[in-house]
Amino acid sequence: MIKNDSSLRTRVAIIGGGPSGLLLSQLLERAGVETVVLERKSREYVLSRIRAGVLESGMVELLREAGAGQRMDREGLVHEGIYLARANRGFRIDFRRHTGNSVMVYGQTELTRDLYQARDAMDANIVHEVEQVEIHAAQSPNPYVSFRHDGRECRLESDFVVGCDGFHGISRKTIDSSVLREFERVYPFGWLGLLSQTPPVSEELIYASHERGFALCSMRNPQLSRYYLQVPLEDSVEKWSDEAFWDELKRRIPAEAAETLVTGASIEKSIAPLRSFVAEPMRWGRLFLCGDAAHIVPPTGAKGLNLAASDVFYLSQALLRHYHDNDDSGLDDYSATALARVWKAERFSWSMTRLLHRFPEQSEFDLRMQQAEIDYLETSVAAQASLAENYVGLPY
Ligand SMILES: Cc1cc2nc3c(=O)[nH]c(=O)nc-3n(C[C@H](O)[C@H](O)[C@H](O)COP(=O)(O)OP(=O)(O)OC[C@H]3O[C@@H](n4cnc5c(N)ncnc54)[C@H](O)[C@@H]3O)c2cc1C
Repeated sequence: MIKNDSSLRTRVAIIGGGPSGLLLSQLLERAGVETVVLERKSREYVLSRIRAGVLESGMVELLREAGAGQRMDREGLVHEGIYLARANRGFRIDFRRHTGNSVMVYGQTELTRDLYQARDAMDANIVHEVEQVEIHAAQSPNPYVSFRHDGRECRLESDFVVGCDGFHGISRKTIDSSVLREFERVYPFGWLGLLSQTPPVSEELIYASHERGFALCSMRNPQLSRYYLQVPLEDSVEKWSDEAFWDELKRRIPAEAAETLVTGASIEKSIAPLRSFVAEPMRWGRLFLCGDAAHIVPPTGAKGLNLAASDVFYLSQALLRHYHDNDDSGLDDYSATALARVWKAERFSWSMTRLLHRFPEQSEFDLRMQQAEIDYLETSVAAQASLAENYVGLPY
Protein backbone atom coordinates (compact mmCIF):
# COMPACT_ATOMS: atom_id res chain seq x y z
CA MET A 1 0.00 0.00 0.00
CA ILE A 2 1.31 3.42 -0.84
CA LYS A 3 0.49 5.92 1.84
CA ASN A 4 -0.49 9.54 0.99
CA ASP A 5 0.88 10.71 -2.36
CA SER A 6 2.83 8.85 -5.03
CA SER A 7 6.27 10.08 -3.89
CA LEU A 8 7.99 8.12 -1.11
CA ARG A 9 11.29 8.30 0.70
CA THR A 10 13.01 5.45 2.53
CA ARG A 11 16.51 4.44 3.51
CA VAL A 12 16.72 1.15 1.62
CA ALA A 13 14.52 0.52 -1.43
CA ILE A 14 14.19 -3.23 -2.01
CA ILE A 15 12.99 -4.52 -5.37
CA GLY A 16 11.40 -7.98 -5.09
CA GLY A 17 9.27 -9.50 -2.34
CA GLY A 18 10.63 -13.06 -2.54
CA PRO A 19 12.72 -14.64 0.23
CA SER A 20 15.76 -12.32 -0.26
CA GLY A 21 13.78 -9.09 -0.26
CA LEU A 22 11.59 -10.03 2.70
CA LEU A 23 14.44 -11.35 4.83
CA LEU A 24 16.60 -8.29 4.15
CA SER A 25 13.72 -5.95 4.93
CA GLN A 26 12.95 -7.81 8.15
CA LEU A 27 16.57 -7.84 9.41
CA LEU A 28 17.09 -4.15 8.63
CA GLU A 29 13.84 -2.94 10.16
CA ARG A 30 14.38 -4.94 13.36
CA ALA A 31 17.62 -2.97 13.68
CA GLY A 32 15.86 0.34 13.04
CA VAL A 33 16.63 0.87 9.34
CA GLU A 34 13.54 1.73 7.31
CA THR A 35 12.83 -0.08 4.04
CA VAL A 36 10.16 -0.24 1.32
CA VAL A 37 9.70 -3.45 -0.70
CA LEU A 38 8.35 -3.26 -4.26
CA GLU A 39 6.94 -6.55 -5.62
CA ARG A 40 5.68 -7.12 -9.15
CA LYS A 41 3.17 -9.86 -8.25
CA SER A 42 0.38 -10.27 -5.70
CA ARG A 43 1.16 -11.87 -2.36
CA GLU A 44 -1.02 -14.87 -3.28
CA TYR A 45 1.02 -15.41 -6.44
CA VAL A 46 4.35 -15.22 -4.57
CA LEU A 47 3.03 -17.73 -2.03
CA SER A 48 1.85 -20.17 -4.69
CA ARG A 49 5.36 -20.81 -6.04
CA ILE A 50 6.68 -24.26 -5.11
CA ARG A 51 10.47 -24.10 -4.98
CA ALA A 52 13.24 -24.94 -2.55
CA GLY A 53 12.96 -26.97 0.63
CA VAL A 54 16.36 -27.62 2.23
CA LEU A 55 17.78 -24.95 4.56
CA GLU A 56 21.41 -24.78 5.67
CA SER A 57 22.01 -24.14 9.36
CA GLY A 58 23.21 -20.58 8.56
CA MET A 59 19.86 -19.76 7.00
CA VAL A 60 18.00 -21.40 9.89
CA GLU A 61 19.90 -19.13 12.32
CA LEU A 62 19.20 -16.07 10.19
CA LEU A 63 15.45 -16.77 10.14
CA ARG A 64 15.48 -17.11 13.93
CA GLU A 65 17.40 -13.85 14.21
CA ALA A 66 14.79 -12.22 11.97
CA GLY A 67 12.04 -13.35 14.37
CA ALA A 68 10.56 -15.58 11.67
CA GLY A 69 11.75 -18.99 12.83
CA GLN A 70 9.10 -20.15 15.32
CA ARG A 71 6.97 -22.23 12.91
CA MET A 72 10.07 -23.56 11.16
CA ASP A 73 11.40 -24.76 14.53
CA ARG A 74 8.06 -26.45 15.28
CA GLU A 75 7.31 -27.98 11.89
CA GLY A 76 10.65 -28.21 10.06
CA LEU A 77 12.41 -31.57 9.84
CA VAL A 78 16.01 -31.77 10.98
CA HIS A 79 17.97 -33.99 8.57
CA GLU A 80 21.34 -35.40 9.52
CA GLY A 81 22.16 -37.12 6.25
CA ILE A 82 21.19 -37.99 2.67
CA TYR A 83 21.25 -41.20 0.65
CA LEU A 84 23.09 -41.51 -2.62
CA ALA A 85 21.89 -44.38 -4.81
CA ARG A 86 23.15 -45.92 -8.00
CA ALA A 87 21.08 -48.55 -9.76
CA ASN A 88 19.91 -50.74 -6.91
CA ARG A 89 22.42 -49.77 -4.27
CA GLY A 90 22.48 -46.89 -1.86
CA PHE A 91 24.70 -45.50 0.86
CA ARG A 92 24.32 -42.73 3.40
CA ILE A 93 26.33 -39.54 3.89
CA ASP A 94 26.19 -38.78 7.59
CA PHE A 95 26.25 -34.99 8.12
CA ARG A 96 26.33 -35.18 11.90
CA ARG A 97 29.31 -37.52 11.91
CA HIS A 98 31.34 -35.54 9.37
CA THR A 99 30.43 -31.96 10.29
CA GLY A 100 28.57 -32.04 13.61
CA ASN A 101 25.86 -30.16 11.72
CA SER A 102 22.52 -30.78 9.98
CA VAL A 103 20.05 -29.16 7.56
CA MET A 104 16.37 -28.28 8.01
CA VAL A 105 13.69 -29.42 5.56
CA TYR A 106 11.12 -26.62 5.42
CA GLY A 107 9.42 -25.42 2.23
CA GLN A 108 10.25 -22.08 0.64
CA THR A 109 6.51 -21.39 0.41
CA GLU A 110 6.12 -21.76 4.19
CA LEU A 111 9.22 -19.74 4.92
CA THR A 112 8.00 -16.92 2.65
CA ARG A 113 4.61 -17.01 4.39
CA ASP A 114 6.38 -16.70 7.79
CA LEU A 115 8.43 -13.76 6.54
CA TYR A 116 5.30 -11.97 5.27
CA GLN A 117 3.66 -12.51 8.66
CA ALA A 118 6.70 -11.18 10.49
CA ARG A 119 6.75 -8.14 8.18
CA ASP A 120 3.00 -7.57 8.71
CA ALA A 121 3.53 -7.64 12.47
CA MET A 122 5.93 -4.70 12.07
CA ASP A 123 3.56 -2.81 9.76
CA ALA A 124 6.00 -3.12 6.86
CA ASN A 125 5.62 -1.10 3.69
CA ILE A 126 5.39 -3.74 0.94
CA VAL A 127 3.87 -2.54 -2.32
CA HIS A 128 2.50 -5.36 -4.46
CA GLU A 129 1.67 -5.43 -8.17
CA VAL A 130 4.05 -2.67 -9.16
CA GLU A 131 4.82 -2.25 -12.86
CA GLN A 132 7.48 -0.62 -15.03
CA VAL A 133 10.05 -0.58 -12.22
CA GLU A 134 13.22 1.35 -13.11
CA ILE A 135 16.30 2.23 -11.05
CA HIS A 136 17.78 5.71 -11.54
CA ALA A 137 20.95 7.51 -10.44
CA ALA A 138 22.49 4.35 -8.94
CA GLN A 139 25.91 5.99 -9.14
CA SER A 140 24.80 9.04 -7.16
CA PRO A 141 24.26 9.44 -3.38
CA ASN A 142 20.49 9.73 -4.05
CA PRO A 143 19.32 6.76 -6.09
CA TYR A 144 15.59 6.39 -6.73
CA VAL A 145 13.14 3.92 -8.22
CA SER A 146 10.27 4.84 -10.51
CA PHE A 147 7.27 2.52 -11.00
CA ARG A 148 3.56 2.42 -11.76
CA HIS A 149 1.07 1.37 -9.12
CA ASP A 150 -2.74 1.52 -9.25
CA GLY A 151 -2.48 3.51 -12.48
CA ARG A 152 -0.24 6.16 -10.89
CA GLU A 153 3.37 7.06 -11.68
CA CYS A 154 5.34 6.71 -8.43
CA ARG A 155 8.82 7.57 -7.24
CA LEU A 156 10.69 6.02 -4.32
CA GLU A 157 13.75 7.95 -3.16
CA SER A 158 16.35 6.17 -1.05
CA ASP A 159 19.93 5.97 0.21
CA PHE A 160 20.42 2.53 -1.36
CA VAL A 161 18.59 0.27 -3.82
CA VAL A 162 18.80 -3.50 -3.42
CA GLY A 163 17.84 -5.76 -6.33
CA CYS A 164 16.21 -8.89 -4.85
CA ASP A 165 14.14 -9.39 -7.99
CA GLY A 166 15.29 -12.82 -9.10
CA PHE A 167 16.90 -13.97 -12.33
CA HIS A 168 14.39 -12.22 -14.63
CA GLY A 169 14.29 -8.96 -12.67
CA ILE A 170 15.42 -5.53 -13.86
CA SER A 171 18.10 -4.74 -11.26
CA ARG A 172 20.99 -6.69 -12.75
CA LYS A 173 20.17 -5.26 -16.20
CA THR A 174 20.52 -1.74 -14.78
CA ILE A 175 24.26 -2.25 -14.23
CA ASP A 176 26.26 -0.71 -17.06
CA SER A 177 27.18 -3.37 -19.63
CA SER A 178 30.80 -2.17 -19.64
CA VAL A 179 31.03 -3.20 -15.96
CA LEU A 180 28.80 -6.28 -15.77
CA ARG A 181 30.30 -9.72 -16.46
CA GLU A 182 28.09 -12.80 -16.73
CA PHE A 183 29.20 -16.44 -16.51
CA GLU A 184 26.76 -19.14 -17.51
CA ARG A 185 26.29 -22.84 -18.13
CA VAL A 186 22.94 -24.13 -19.35
CA TYR A 187 22.44 -27.88 -18.83
CA PRO A 188 20.91 -30.03 -21.58
CA PHE A 189 18.04 -31.32 -19.40
CA GLY A 190 15.43 -30.16 -16.90
CA TRP A 191 13.83 -31.41 -13.69
CA LEU A 192 10.22 -32.51 -13.75
CA GLY A 193 8.92 -31.98 -10.19
CA LEU A 194 5.79 -33.50 -8.68
CA LEU A 195 4.27 -32.55 -5.32
CA SER A 196 1.87 -35.03 -3.72
CA GLN A 197 -0.03 -35.35 -0.46
CA THR A 198 1.68 -38.65 0.37
CA PRO A 199 4.15 -39.73 3.06
CA PRO A 200 7.77 -39.50 1.81
CA VAL A 201 9.32 -42.76 0.65
CA SER A 202 12.33 -42.20 2.92
CA GLU A 203 12.99 -40.19 6.08
CA GLU A 204 15.98 -38.62 4.33
CA LEU A 205 16.45 -37.38 0.76
CA ILE A 206 17.49 -39.96 -1.85
CA TYR A 207 19.67 -38.72 -4.73
CA ALA A 208 19.58 -41.46 -7.37
CA SER A 209 21.93 -41.77 -10.33
CA HIS A 210 20.45 -44.14 -12.93
CA GLU A 211 21.11 -44.99 -16.55
CA ARG A 212 17.62 -43.66 -17.39
CA GLY A 213 18.49 -40.35 -15.70
CA PHE A 214 18.69 -38.74 -12.27
CA ALA A 215 15.86 -38.87 -9.70
CA LEU A 216 15.42 -37.16 -6.33
CA CYS A 217 13.07 -38.15 -3.52
CA SER A 218 12.50 -35.13 -1.31
CA MET A 219 9.76 -33.89 0.98
CA ARG A 220 8.21 -30.81 2.58
CA ASN A 221 6.64 -32.45 5.66
CA PRO A 222 5.65 -35.96 6.86
CA GLN A 223 2.57 -35.91 4.61
CA LEU A 224 3.87 -33.92 1.65
CA SER A 225 6.39 -35.37 -0.79
CA ARG A 226 8.36 -33.72 -3.57
CA TYR A 227 9.87 -35.95 -6.26
CA TYR A 228 11.94 -35.03 -9.30
CA LEU A 229 12.97 -36.72 -12.54
CA GLN A 230 15.64 -35.62 -14.97
CA VAL A 231 13.84 -35.11 -18.31
CA PRO A 232 14.87 -33.84 -21.76
CA LEU A 233 14.52 -30.09 -22.16
CA GLU A 234 11.96 -30.59 -24.94
CA ASP A 235 9.54 -32.47 -22.64
CA SER A 236 6.32 -30.75 -21.55
CA VAL A 237 4.38 -31.34 -18.33
CA GLU A 238 1.36 -32.46 -20.41
CA LYS A 239 3.42 -35.36 -21.71
CA TRP A 240 3.80 -36.71 -18.18
CA SER A 241 0.66 -38.19 -16.62
CA ASP A 242 0.93 -38.86 -12.87
CA GLU A 243 1.03 -42.58 -13.64
CA ALA A 244 3.92 -42.19 -16.09
CA PHE A 245 5.82 -40.12 -13.50
CA TRP A 246 5.41 -42.71 -10.74
CA ASP A 247 6.37 -45.58 -13.09
CA GLU A 248 9.54 -43.79 -14.14
CA LEU A 249 10.46 -42.82 -10.59
CA LYS A 250 10.15 -46.45 -9.48
CA ARG A 251 12.53 -47.53 -12.24
CA ARG A 252 15.21 -45.03 -11.17
CA ILE A 253 15.29 -45.50 -7.38
CA PRO A 254 16.48 -48.64 -5.53
CA ALA A 255 13.91 -51.50 -5.55
CA GLU A 256 13.60 -51.43 -1.78
CA ALA A 257 12.39 -47.81 -1.95
CA ALA A 258 10.26 -48.38 -5.08
CA GLU A 259 8.36 -51.17 -3.31
CA THR A 260 7.32 -48.93 -0.43
CA LEU A 261 6.68 -45.75 -2.46
CA VAL A 262 3.20 -44.39 -1.77
CA THR A 263 1.83 -42.72 -4.91
CA GLY A 264 -1.07 -40.30 -5.24
CA ALA A 265 -2.52 -37.51 -7.33
CA SER A 266 -0.16 -34.63 -8.05
CA ILE A 267 -0.90 -31.27 -6.42
CA GLU A 268 1.62 -29.53 -8.63
CA LYS A 269 3.78 -30.60 -11.54
CA SER A 270 6.30 -28.44 -13.37
CA ILE A 271 9.53 -28.57 -15.34
CA ALA A 272 12.47 -26.36 -14.34
CA PRO A 273 15.50 -25.89 -16.61
CA LEU A 274 18.92 -26.24 -14.96
CA ARG A 275 21.40 -23.41 -15.14
CA SER A 276 24.58 -22.18 -13.47
CA PHE A 277 24.91 -18.40 -13.65
CA VAL A 278 26.92 -15.69 -11.89
CA ALA A 279 26.90 -11.94 -12.48
CA GLU A 280 29.82 -9.83 -11.30
CA PRO A 281 30.01 -7.39 -9.57
CA MET A 282 27.13 -7.57 -7.09
CA ARG A 283 27.44 -3.86 -6.36
CA TRP A 284 27.25 -0.92 -8.73
CA GLY A 285 27.38 2.43 -6.97
CA ARG A 286 24.47 2.41 -4.54
CA LEU A 287 22.76 -0.56 -6.20
CA PHE A 288 23.36 -4.00 -4.63
CA LEU A 289 22.22 -7.40 -5.88
CA CYS A 290 21.06 -10.27 -3.64
CA GLY A 291 19.99 -13.84 -4.40
CA ASP A 292 18.80 -15.06 -7.79
CA ALA A 293 19.17 -11.53 -9.22
CA ALA A 294 22.92 -12.19 -9.20
CA HIS A 295 23.31 -15.96 -9.43
CA ILE A 296 21.54 -19.23 -10.23
CA VAL A 297 22.59 -22.77 -9.40
CA PRO A 298 21.12 -26.06 -10.57
CA PRO A 299 19.02 -27.38 -7.65
CA THR A 300 21.09 -30.58 -7.24
CA GLY A 301 22.99 -29.25 -4.23
CA ALA A 302 19.98 -27.42 -2.67
CA LYS A 303 21.94 -24.16 -2.67
CA GLY A 304 19.78 -21.50 -4.48
CA LEU A 305 17.73 -20.27 -1.56
CA ASN A 306 20.63 -20.69 0.85
CA LEU A 307 22.88 -18.47 -1.27
CA ALA A 308 20.19 -15.81 -1.23
CA ALA A 309 20.32 -15.99 2.59
CA SER A 310 24.11 -15.62 2.79
CA ASP A 311 23.97 -12.56 0.48
CA VAL A 312 21.30 -11.06 2.74
CA PHE A 313 23.45 -11.76 5.78
CA TYR A 314 26.51 -9.98 4.34
CA LEU A 315 24.50 -7.04 3.01
CA SER A 316 22.37 -6.53 6.12
CA GLN A 317 25.51 -6.49 8.30
CA ALA A 318 27.19 -4.03 5.93
CA LEU A 319 24.18 -1.69 5.83
CA LEU A 320 23.83 -1.77 9.61
CA ARG A 321 27.49 -0.87 9.98
CA HIS A 322 26.92 2.03 7.57
CA TYR A 323 23.93 3.36 9.54
CA HIS A 324 25.02 2.55 13.08
CA ASP A 325 28.83 2.93 13.00
CA ASN A 326 29.35 5.20 9.99
CA ASP A 327 31.59 2.43 8.60
CA ASP A 328 31.35 1.62 4.86
CA SER A 329 33.96 -1.13 4.74
CA GLY A 330 31.26 -3.85 4.64
CA LEU A 331 29.54 -2.16 1.70
CA ASP A 332 32.86 -1.79 -0.11
CA ASP A 333 33.66 -5.48 0.45
CA TYR A 334 30.13 -6.81 -0.14
CA SER A 335 30.54 -7.92 -3.75
CA ALA A 336 33.87 -9.70 -3.19
CA THR A 337 32.72 -11.32 0.08
CA ALA A 338 29.41 -12.57 -1.32
CA LEU A 339 30.96 -13.76 -4.59
CA ALA A 340 33.63 -15.79 -2.79
CA ARG A 341 30.90 -17.89 -1.18
CA VAL A 342 28.74 -17.89 -4.32
CA TRP A 343 31.49 -19.41 -6.46
CA LYS A 344 32.09 -22.20 -3.94
CA ALA A 345 28.38 -23.06 -3.96
CA GLU A 346 28.38 -22.86 -7.77
CA ARG A 347 31.24 -25.37 -7.79
CA PHE A 348 29.41 -27.75 -5.46
CA SER A 349 26.09 -27.54 -7.35
CA TRP A 350 27.86 -28.04 -10.68
CA SER A 351 29.86 -31.02 -9.37
CA MET A 352 26.74 -32.71 -7.89
CA THR A 353 24.90 -32.14 -11.19
CA ARG A 354 27.80 -33.59 -13.18
CA LEU A 355 28.11 -36.55 -10.80
CA LEU A 356 24.48 -37.66 -10.82
CA HIS A 357 22.91 -36.85 -14.22
CA ARG A 358 23.11 -38.52 -17.60
CA PHE A 359 24.38 -36.08 -20.23
CA PRO A 360 23.41 -36.61 -23.89
CA GLU A 361 27.01 -36.34 -25.13
CA GLN A 362 28.50 -38.56 -22.39
CA SER A 363 31.13 -41.05 -23.60
CA GLU A 364 31.84 -44.46 -22.07
CA PHE A 365 34.89 -42.88 -20.47
CA ASP A 366 32.75 -40.14 -18.89
CA LEU A 367 30.38 -42.78 -17.52
CA ARG A 368 33.27 -44.70 -15.97
CA MET A 369 34.52 -41.48 -14.37
CA GLN A 370 31.07 -40.89 -12.87
CA GLN A 371 30.96 -44.43 -11.53
CA ALA A 372 34.47 -44.14 -10.10
CA GLU A 373 33.55 -40.91 -8.37
CA ILE A 374 30.46 -42.46 -6.77
CA ASP A 375 32.54 -45.51 -5.71
CA TYR A 376 35.09 -43.16 -4.19
CA LEU A 377 32.34 -41.34 -2.28
CA GLU A 378 30.97 -44.63 -0.98
CA THR A 379 34.31 -45.79 0.37
CA SER A 380 36.23 -42.64 1.34
CA VAL A 381 35.62 -40.87 4.63
CA ALA A 382 37.42 -37.80 3.26
CA ALA A 383 35.15 -37.63 0.18
CA GLN A 384 32.04 -38.03 2.32
CA ALA A 385 33.24 -35.32 4.71
CA SER A 386 33.78 -32.94 1.79
CA LEU A 387 30.29 -33.55 0.42
CA ALA A 388 28.75 -33.20 3.87
CA GLU A 389 30.65 -29.96 4.57
CA ASN A 390 29.34 -28.38 1.37
CA TYR A 391 25.80 -29.74 1.71
CA VAL A 392 25.23 -28.41 5.24
CA GLY A 393 26.68 -25.11 4.03
CA LEU A 394 30.02 -23.37 4.21
CA PRO A 395 30.29 -20.84 7.05
CA TYR A 396 29.23 -17.21 6.45
C1 LIG B 1 11.15 -23.71 -10.36
C2 LIG B 1 12.21 -23.48 -9.33
C3 LIG B 1 12.58 -24.51 -8.45
C4 LIG B 1 13.56 -24.30 -7.50
N1 LIG B 1 13.92 -25.32 -6.68
C5 LIG B 1 14.89 -25.13 -5.78
C6 LIG B 1 15.31 -26.15 -4.91
O1 LIG B 1 14.79 -27.25 -4.95
N2 LIG B 1 16.31 -25.88 -4.02
C7 LIG B 1 16.92 -24.65 -3.95
O2 LIG B 1 17.80 -24.43 -3.11
N3 LIG B 1 16.55 -23.67 -4.76
C8 LIG B 1 15.56 -23.87 -5.66
N4 LIG B 1 15.20 -22.87 -6.48
C9 LIG B 1 15.87 -21.62 -6.30
C10 LIG B 1 15.25 -20.80 -5.19
O3 LIG B 1 13.87 -20.88 -5.24
C11 LIG B 1 15.74 -19.37 -5.36
O4 LIG B 1 17.15 -19.39 -5.21
C12 LIG B 1 15.11 -18.39 -4.39
O5 LIG B 1 13.76 -18.23 -4.68
C13 LIG B 1 15.83 -17.05 -4.50
O6 LIG B 1 15.12 -16.07 -3.81
P1 LIG B 1 15.12 -14.59 -4.33
O7 LIG B 1 14.28 -13.84 -3.36
O8 LIG B 1 16.50 -14.14 -4.58
O9 LIG B 1 14.43 -14.63 -5.76
P2 LIG B 1 12.92 -14.98 -6.13
O10 LIG B 1 12.38 -16.02 -5.25
O11 LIG B 1 12.92 -15.23 -7.60
O12 LIG B 1 12.13 -13.64 -5.83
C14 LIG B 1 12.25 -12.51 -6.65
C15 LIG B 1 10.99 -11.68 -6.49
O13 LIG B 1 11.13 -10.49 -7.25
C16 LIG B 1 9.93 -10.22 -7.95
N5 LIG B 1 10.25 -9.42 -9.13
C17 LIG B 1 10.81 -9.81 -10.29
N6 LIG B 1 10.97 -8.77 -11.12
C18 LIG B 1 10.51 -7.69 -10.45
C19 LIG B 1 10.39 -6.31 -10.79
N7 LIG B 1 10.80 -5.84 -11.98
N8 LIG B 1 9.86 -5.48 -9.89
C20 LIG B 1 9.45 -5.93 -8.68
N9 LIG B 1 9.52 -7.23 -8.30
C21 LIG B 1 10.05 -8.09 -9.18
C22 LIG B 1 9.39 -11.61 -8.29
O14 LIG B 1 8.00 -11.60 -8.54
C23 LIG B 1 9.76 -12.39 -7.03
O15 LIG B 1 8.74 -12.36 -6.08
C24 LIG B 1 14.21 -23.06 -7.43
C25 LIG B 1 13.85 -22.03 -8.31
C26 LIG B 1 12.89 -22.23 -9.26
C27 LIG B 1 12.54 -21.11 -10.21
